[in-house]
Amino acid sequence: MTKMIELDRDPKNVALQLLSAISLSDWEVFRDLNAPRYTTVDYYRMACHVIFECHRCGHCCTTGDPIRLKLEDLAAIAKSLKIPLNKALKKYTIQDPEKAGVLDFKHILPCKFYDSSAKGCKIYDARPWSCRIFPFLGIYGSEDKVLVNELCPGSVETMNVLKEAIEVVRADQKMPHAADPAEVRSAKEFLREALNSI
Ligand code: SF4
Ligand code: SF4
Repeated sequence: MTKMIELDRDPKNVALQLLSAISLSDWEVFRDLNAPRYTTVDYYRMACHVIFECHRCGHCCTTGDPIRLKLEDLAAIAKSLKIPLNKALKKYTIQDPEKAGVLDFKHILPCKFYDSSAKGCKIYDARPWSCRIFPFLGIYGSEDKVLVNELCPGSVETMNVLKEAIEVVRADQKMPHAADPAEVRSAKEFLREALNSI
């Protein structure tokens, strides 16, 4: 489940920012060599995150399996639960059966951190990265298409709203003909902020 900081979430605004953001590549806009580089598909994902509204149906937390963990996720969970890292490792993780060196939450359905009465996550601020980016999954930095989880009502709705808004913006012809790098950078930063805040 995701929570978003205050951004202008109007779909038309998001579509405008998206179309501007993808009009130049990151390499053309960010001079800092250490700045993360994102792909067009990544910016679509970020735009989806801005528009997305969780229906709090709990489907993802009660049926999601496997849930992948990074070591930083586990460290955050251990800290939040005030237990040592090795205890969290033993108690909550297994090696992914298909990917060497990758950890999964132990085979637990529903997730033991799901609070069914509150319809939310008990470790929300420490939830793993894979939960944070759900339902717009993917490897950031890759050009794979945005995967939409058909079982998540919010994701399907988001994709439809975004597609419609893009069509409206294109029909309005509000996009400048020549991209201004400063404006493109600002649009990219708007969407990056969404990613950083999930
Ligand atoms: S499945 Fe989608 S809509 Fe339902 S709780 Fe999860 S993120 Fe929210
Ligand atoms: S850790 Fe939290 S957000 Fe992730 S599946 Fe479990 S309850 Fe859901």
